[in-house]
Amino acid sequence: MKEQILSEFGKRFSESPVLYASAGRINLIGEHTDYNGGFVFPGAIDKAIMAAIAPNDSDRVNVFSIDIDEEVSFGLREEDAPTQSWARYIFGVCREVQKRGGVVKGFNAVFAGNVPLGAGLSSSAALESCFAYALNDLYNENRIDKFELARIGQSTEHNYCGVNCGIMDQFASVMGQKGKLMRLDCRSMEFEYFPFAPEEYELVLIDSRVKHELADSPYNKRRQSCERVAARLGIETLRDADMEKLEAIRDEISAEDYSRAKFVIEEKERVLAVCEALNRDDYETVGKKMYETHQGLSKDYEVSCEELDFLNDVAKECGVTGSRIMGGGFGGCTINLVRKDLTERFTATATERFNARYGHKPQIYPVVISDGARKL
Ligand code: ADP
Ligand code: MG
Repeated sequence: MKEQILSEFGKRFSESPVLYASAGRINLIGEHTDYNGGFVFPGAIDKAIMAAIAPNDSDRVNVFSIDIDEEVSFGLREEDAPTQSWARYIFGVCREVQKRGGVVKGFNAVFAGNVPLGAGLSSSAALESCFAYALNDLYNENRIDKFELARIGQSTEHNYCGVNCGIMDQFASVMGQKGKLMRLDCRSMEFEYFPFAPEEYELVLIDSRVKHELADSPYNKRRQSCERVAARLGIETLRDADMEKLEAIRDEISAEDYSRAKFVIEEKERVLAVCEALNRDDYETVGKKMYETHQGLSKDYEVSCEELDFLNDVAKECGVTGSRIMGGGFGGCTINLVRKDLTERFTATATERFNARYGHKPQIYPVVISDGARKL
C-alpha cells in the first residue's frame, strides 16, 4: 500500500510527501454503555488508512483517493465544502482544526486504506484520525492534544457527514497502541491501557453482511428506557446503578425497562471483570464474559437478530473461547476470541453453515491489536 501511495503521489504532484496512517478499531466489550456513562473497551487494529501529504504553498487542498479513484480539490473556507462524501471527511477535519485555532494551509495528498467500509470497523474514524494527526504534525508542531484530535474527528462526523456518533471510534483510532486495549470511562473521559497480546488466541470478526432496518428507531427506545430507569432511581445515568438498587424498584417499572437496565448494569461489571482478567492473562474468563454480553444483548437488550445469534451458536458449538455481537446490533459483525489452532476450522464451519442457511457467505476479518494514528 505504501509503495502504491508514494508512486501515485509522484505521478500527480512534485513535492516530497510525508506518510501518515491511522487505524480502524474493534471494541472487545462494553456495548450500549457509552450513553449510559459507562465504559467501553476498544483497541486499534492492523487495518488502516494511509496518506502521503505535502504542503503545496497555496490555499487549496488537492486529494486523490486511490480506492475511489477520484481527485477532489477544495479551498479551506466554510463555503468551499466539497460534495463528494469521502472528501467531506477531510474537509471537515481541516475546518475543525481551524475552528480550534489550529493552522491549516493548502496541501496535496494521496491516500488509500484497507479498513473495510461500513463493516463496523470504523473506516471513517481511521480517515479522520489520519488527516487530523497529519495536520497537527505538519502545521501545528503537535500542539493539539491527542484527545482533541479524536474530538476533531467526532465533530467532523457531526458537522460535515451527518453522523451523530460518540467519541469511541475516533478515540480508539487516535490513541491505539500495539498489544493494548483502552478502557475509556465515558463519564469522565479518563482512560487506561490494558495488555491484549495473547499468544494462543486471536481475534476474528465475522461480518454477517446483513443490516436490518427497523422502523420504530429501536436505538432511541433503548436510550429512553435507560433514562427512565435512571430518573426513577434519582441518578444521572445507569453508571451509578447496581442490581440491588434496580431490584428495589423492579415492581415500579415495566418489565422491558427492567431488562434494559439489567443489561447495562451487568455490562459495566463485565468490562471491569475483563480488564482484571487481562491483567492476569486469563483469556478464558475474557471469552466467558463475551458470551455473557451476547446473551444479554440478545435476550435482555434485544438488539440481536437471527443471523448474529446463529453465528454465536456456531462459535459455541465449535468451542470458540468468546463470541458476541460487536456494535449497535441488528446486523453487522460478531467478534470472536479464538484459539489459534481452532481458527481455520471455525471460520470454515461458520462460512459453510451460514451460507447454507442464509444464501450468502459472511466475510471473515482476522484482526491484530495495533498502533493508532502515527507518522510512518
Ligand atoms: P464505517 O463504519 O466503516 O466507518 P462509514 O459509513 O462511517 O462506515 O464510513 C465510510 C465512509 O468513509 C466511506 O463511504 C468513504 O466516504 C469514507 N472512506 C472510508 N475508507 C475510505 C477509503 N479507503 N477511501 C476513501 N474513502 C473512504
Ligand atoms: Mg463510521
